[in-house]
Amino acid sequence: PGQPPLNHIDPSKLKITRTASPKEMPSLETLKFGRNFTDHMLTVEWSLENGWEAPEIKPYGPLQLAPSAMVFHYAQCLFEGLKAYRNKAGKITLFRPELNMARMNRSAERIALPTFDGDALLECMKQLIKLEKNWIPQLDGYSLYIRPVLIGTQESIGISPPNRAMLCVILSPVGPYYPDGFKPVALHGTTEFIRAAPGGTGAYKIGANYAQGLHPQKWAAQLGYVQNLWLSGPEHYLTEVGTMNLFVAFRQPDGTIELVTPPLDGMILPGVTRDSVLSLARSHASGSISIDGLQSKLVVNERAVTMPEVREAVQAGRLIEMFGSGTAAIVSPIDKIGYMGQDIIIPVESDGMGPVSRPLWKELVGRQTGVIPSDWSYVV
Ligand code: PMP
Repeated sequence: PGQPPLNHIDPSKLKITRTASPKEMPSLETLKFGRNFTDHMLTVEWSLENGWEAPEIKPYGPLQLAPSAMVFHYAQCLFEGLKAYRNKAGKITLFRPELNMARMNRSAERIALPTFDGDALLECMKQLIKLEKNWIPQLDGYSLYIRPVLIGTQESIGISPPNRAMLCVILSPVGPYYPDGFKPVALHGTTEFIRAAPGGTGAYKIGANYAQGLHPQKWAAQLGYVQNLWLSGPEHYLTEVGTMNLFVAFRQPDGTIELVTPPLDGMILPGVTRDSVLSLARSHASGSISIDGLQSKLVVNERAVTMPEVREAVQAGRLIEMFGSGTAAIVSPIDKIGYMGQDIIIPVESDGMGPVSRPLWKELVGRQTGVIPSDWSYVV
């Protein structure tokens, strides 16, 4: 009693040191995803004895870490990704950030890094974002990408849960993923490598998942594809695409459209965009929102889908479209899958999208940027 809980971060102790040499905002035309960072970062140190120290905002710059720090050896690191939007009137909003905080804590628990109070971290992040507000471009399609990371910093090469850790949040102004309109991607239906396995770490946003995906991604590129379509088991269940969740729309014999995404079975990252797409599609299906141009009856299912099912649906003309979903690209249409030596052609319409993704994308972007009011919007 009287002691703060172990996961306590205290935003009232936030210490702010401003940079003496602010950088120039890069020109918006040359902005490349994740290459430019703002003037300041947020750091919070943790130790087993004292829990979370006072959070600090300080000039963006290199960290000092011992070469024996655990993160360099055993991949004790995890991250998150979300965006801040600034409208024409200067109002800054985040999109469902509490889901990122919850996911970050689940990742931390899974690799024995310390958990923390997500609301308190959000409060500190708000201060950082306010300080850097001029780095959020106010143009359509632009935003400030927020990257929290948590690393194990204990100086020890014995494998154990660390007794030192550091949480850090950096910010990066980003432009539209598809500046020249949607460009559908070709996928390599990957049977040589897997991304995740039952009981493994696929459902967590930990660095190790991404390191192991790079070689398969290079392999897919050599074969002429843009991303891996990650499959699982001898049945070739669809799981995810690159670093996005996956949706498939089928036409059922009675004319109904079935929108399917694989279930959260422990091998799939519970995407914030996935959850939002599902929720919008379900409220459309139940008649509580109407989406322009989507006239057919829609049913929404989280169920397993195999590559043979996709191939048969394409052959029968029953596959309407496929797309990936994620914070960076929002919706990413798919036009081809190389599978077992054959290319399967997935329909896309002339604007690069499809009849299901187009209206859902509009609804989603509206809610993300605050143009469509919703309780998913979090004011900074
Ligand atoms: N799957 C993986 C493997 C990812 O890295 C991401 C990006 N975070 C997603 C799906 C999409 O998640 P979100 O919609 O939260 O960005």
